[in-house]
Amino acid sequence: MKRIAILGSTGSIGRNALRVVDSMPGRFQVVGLAAHSNGELLFRQALRYRPTMVSLFESAASEQLKGRRHGCRNLGSGVEGLVEMAGHPDVDLVLTSLVGGVGFAPLLAALRAGKTVALANKEPMVMAGAQFMREAKRWGARIIPVDSEPSAIFQCLSGSPRTGVRRVLLTASGGALYRRKGSLDRVRAAEALRHPTWKMGPKITIDSATLMNKGFEAIEIQHLFGLDHKAIEILIHPQSIVHSAVEFQDGSVLAQLASPDMRLPIQYALTHPDRAPSLVRRLDLAAAGSLTFQEPDFRRFSCLALARAAAAAGGGLPAVLNAADEVAVEAFLAGRIRFTQLARVVETTMNAFRGGRGLPGFAEVVEIDQWARRKAQETCSRL
Ligand code: MG
Repeated sequence: MKRIAILGSTGSIGRNALRVVDSMPGRFQVVGLAAHSNGELLFRQALRYRPTMVSLFESAASEQLKGRRHGCRNLGSGVEGLVEMAGHPDVDLVLTSLVGGVGFAPLLAALRAGKTVALANKEPMVMAGAQFMREAKRWGARIIPVDSEPSAIFQCLSGSPRTGVRRVLLTASGGALYRRKGSLDRVRAAEALRHPTWKMGPKITIDSATLMNKGFEAIEIQHLFGLDHKAIEILIHPQSIVHSAVEFQDGSVLAQLASPDMRLPIQYALTHPDRAPSLVRRLDLAAAGSLTFQEPDFRRFSCLALARAAAAAGGGLPAVLNAADEVAVEAFLAGRIRFTQLARVVETTMNAFRGGRGLPGFAEVVEIDQWARRKAQETCSRL
């Protein structure tokens, strides 16, 4: 039995991961569950899966959990609980489905403990992807992507040497607003949160609506698979059936196709290199009808252009991009800035950054992250 810890067990990926675990009895033992603030659901999950450790990030929720009988060791609140769980000797595989930069230290802890990491939390890879890959190599750890598009590329690449890759075709649904006519200036959070094909948490759904999520994925896969950022091409594919494709030097293009259902890439990350029957509805291509592809509109969705610029510049700029986006999305969800101001906050923060071109160490990335958050907050309050 593979012993797994789920960081982010009450979110959309975490709950789907537990459905995958349920569907494969005898295959996985859940040894750790960590959540942000949903103590009620974490408590129910603890009673059902009987992990040895639990942790709640928010201290008030964590205090409440302490008074309840769940039979597990409570690792306490904050990032320390996540870090301890991620590196714990009883864990074989860590699924990190945390949201945002908070997953940075837990990912580092898991890699330094030589774990296999099933990664859904892409932000740390945006902040310091090259450094995390170096760390993984050093400690014999492994990162397997959970997100559907990076998973597709991972599947297309298996069995082929990286040197044979000409380019990667990274597909994007386009999010909630791609086909919306007129100005995006007055788009409210509720509308931007209505994703056409994927049901996900609020941060990633807004990032999908701005296409920032695709820019993040491009940076993530650049590091995961050792690609040149110029070899990554983004295509809008509203049907979300082709989850991405790889073009090889000989002109062959391999794609991974499936019904849009997160349980599939989650399951593959957990069972890799094995494949097993899944709960996912089988793909009916005739019923799917036509599959369409088009180049993204970088002007209207300028967050994507900013992410591409950060990828090209490298150094500390991707960490600035990530931090500013996190602050901007929070401000947008709280109704403090308008939809079109999301890109402005990110751009203003990026323009203010005076970092060197070299690859910053982990401590320096954390400093850059904190600086960029302050700067982005300032910009938000001035808008
Ligand atoms: Mg994705």
